[in-house]
Amino acid sequence: MKEIKEKIEQSDSIVIVGHVNPDGDTVGAGLALLLGLEKKYPDKKIDFVLQDNVPKNIAFLKGCDKIKKIEDIIAPNYNLAIFVDSATTERVGKVMELIGDIFKINIDHHISNPRYGDINVVKDISSTSEIMYSLLKDLDIEISLEMGEALYLGLVNDTGNFAHSNVTDKTFLVASELMKLGVNNNKIINDFFKTKSYERMKVLGKALSEMVFVEEKKLMYFYLSDKALKELNAVKDDTEGIVEELINYAGSEVSLFLREEESGKIKGSLRSKHDIDVNRIAGIFDGGGHIKAAGFTTELSPQEIIKKVVENL
Ligand code: 5GP
Ligand code: MN
Repeated sequence: MKEIKEKIEQSDSIVIVGHVNPDGDTVGAGLALLLGLEKKYPDKKIDFVLQDNVPKNIAFLKGCDKIKKIEDIIAPNYNLAIFVDSATTERVGKVMELIGDIFKINIDHHISNPRYGDINVVKDISSTSEIMYSLLKDLDIEISLEMGEALYLGLVNDTGNFAHSNVTDKTFLVASELMKLGVNNNKIINDFFKTKSYERMKVLGKALSEMVFVEEKKLMYFYLSDKALKELNAVKDDTEGIVEELINYAGSEVSLFLREEESGKIKGSLRSKHDIDVNRIAGIFDGGGHIKAAGFTTELSPQEIIKKVVENL
């Protein structure tokens, strides 16, 4: 941790980066770090850059308007890049063009993370936000209410509101400390989980009525084409949470949600209820993540993907 503090203090221009299709954990951990560093080091130039827009049900976090897009960065001259919640450097997408081979700090919680940083803080715990909470303390950075809300949303995002097997006593301890700062648990849950758009509910309805169960592998899957998404006037954020609904069926051990992107590539999301390692399955398609939640993007067809998944289960 001493090394990280030294590196931050030596760098006058720092870029924080998170993964494509940002979720509450990458935004929460990155935003808390941005706000904390800005307060402690007002003379440094610090940007938090994401390739894609922050989803609507996360953008209510205070400070989210400070997050930049690549187009906003005219002359990148950073000395230090801090990656949050990004299992590989490719996961940050086009933002990598701003970074090149400057010094990298890698803060993440994915088991598939190959420790690509010059300094790595990679721990197999609930969320990057849980790691960030301890890291901010170690950096002697005071956690404000806004930072606390961002971290809390990250915890809630990656634990399914403290329901997944990645929750430990330490996770609750961090949540408790954040509530002591004044974080309103009920408001965050309402704003984040309970504000679904009409289109999102329609897409979920389609998934639940058209899902397919492969009995011998206890696999529930659903494929959504780009055409079908557009017919419902929906966007990709409206498909969040479908894969979690598919695993809720009593007979499911594994769920797979496939979504066709505009480019024709397929984005896959996998979840496991008990012992099946979906990080391994995602690895077949060069993806990764965790044992119970993983993802990938591939050029294979949905039929080919389903065949390979079934063969490997
Ligand atoms: P989701 O299915 O919700 O997109 O992602 C589930 C988990 O897998 C998350 O922890 C996410 O970061 C990780 N993940 C999703 N897509 C990819 C991918 O293409 N590559 C890797 N390495 N991890 C992914
Ligand atoms: Mn995460």
